[in-house]
Amino acid sequence: MDLQQTDVLVIGAGSVGSMALWQLSKRDGVDVVGIEQYGRVHAHGSYAGESRVFRTAVHEGGTYVPMIRRSRELWRELERESGRAIYSEVGALSIAPEGFPDFETALGTVRDFDLEHRLLDTAELRAEFPQHRVHDGDVGLLDAHGGGLRPEVAVMSALDLAEANGARLFFNTAVIDVEERANGVVVRTTQGSWLARTVIVASGSWSTRLSPDLHRLLRLQVLGLTWFMPRRPELFAPDRFPVFLRDAGAVHFFGAPSFDGYAFKACTNPEWPVFRDVSEVPRAHTREELIRIGQRAAELFVDVNPEPVRESVHHCAYTPDRLPVVDTSASGRVVTVTGLSGHGFKFSPRLGEWASALATGATPDEAGVDPRFALPAHLERLAVTGAYTGGGH
Ligand SMILES: Cc1cc2nc3c(=O)[nH]c(=O)nc-3n(C[C@H](O)[C@H](O)[C@H](O)COP(=O)(O)OP(=O)(O)OC[C@H]3O[C@@H](n4cnc5c(N)ncnc54)[C@H](O)[C@@H]3O)c2cc1C
Repeated sequence: MDLQQTDVLVIGAGSVGSMALWQLSKRDGVDVVGIEQYGRVHAHGSYAGESRVFRTAVHEGGTYVPMIRRSRELWRELERESGRAIYSEVGALSIAPEGFPDFETALGTVRDFDLEHRLLDTAELRAEFPQHRVHDGDVGLLDAHGGGLRPEVAVMSALDLAEANGARLFFNTAVIDVEERANGVVVRTTQGSWLARTVIVASGSWSTRLSPDLHRLLRLQVLGLTWFMPRRPELFAPDRFPVFLRDAGAVHFFGAPSFDGYAFKACTNPEWPVFRDVSEVPRAHTREELIRIGQRAAELFVDVNPEPVRESVHHCAYTPDRLPVVDTSASGRVVTVTGLSGHGFKFSPRLGEWASALATGATPDEAGVDPRFALPAHLERLAVTGAYTGGGH
């Protein structure tokens, strides 16, 4: 077998892979290769769909706030280096009935970490955000450093920069298998084989295909996106309408302002089962689902046409407790980052930075990776809880 050689090979040029490639390409003397099964930025990965919520007021603040802070610096760095607008800090507005558990947790995080925020009562919400149909007893939390990320632009920018720095990227090339050997890692692809010193596996929802062992931990959750036309789109422009999370009874909605000038994103997910492989995931909402989502959108937003003008269905790999997997194999040669669990786009630059450090010799401890992200730690927790939670953002 004829083997091409490289120092670090990244499998998957999506959210984490593109950020790892960007970081690796800045290291002197490291030869870097990226392999992606689809083209450069595509509609099939977990990052597709125009926008992603970025917020600092998250659950489990102690785990995530430092990752999010570092990611915010890296998002700005990516903007500076690429000259592209990637992160709009329009704020992130949570609206829920007073005392709602997720709202209280987010509030606890902003207080514990002294994050800039505002609390709004029902009257203030109605006066300042007339786009929302605010219910009696609803309260708001405006996370000042929250906002909307542009995922396709982010991935494109990181890949372009990596390539400009010398990384070699191969698209429409699928990795078939990965084999650790004494002298390196052999990666077989649909376009030939490679021998790499180290490999980063950043293959998202497809991770179980390359590492069937991950079936023990990962499940695919389905997440749908819908966009609606308001009668007054100017009210939904980014300078007036923050990204939002809304809880009303059992209904959870999330979304983003209008980046295209005619429709804004407002999504809620039907009760989909979890899946084991991407091939099983539905490709679109049913008509009944769209009618139900539209009715709920019309109940929560003022003057909105209930028929979605755009819709798409995606998937994401989840761990039971939604902590990501950042794992290094026993030989130190294969680094796996997956299980971003419906909320990981916001901190993908930090994960890419960790992957880059681990693949170039740092130990998890030296890189500052939370030990709970290692695969054995995940499996130990799974043995105790055995439960999966859904959700996103
Ligand atoms: C609809 C939706 C909404 C979300 N909303 C938010 C949000 O608001 N905020 C937030 O922070 N997060 C959000 N998330 C989560 C976040 O977008 C994902 O967790 C993140 O994009 C996953 O990144 P990844 O790198 O693991 O996977 P991906 O970005 O999918 O990248 C994996 C890449 O690997 C490639 N690949 C796979 N197998 C192979 C192979 N064998 N050979 C070559 N290439 C391969 C794939 O083609 C893909 O390009 C959301 C997710 C979804 C689906």
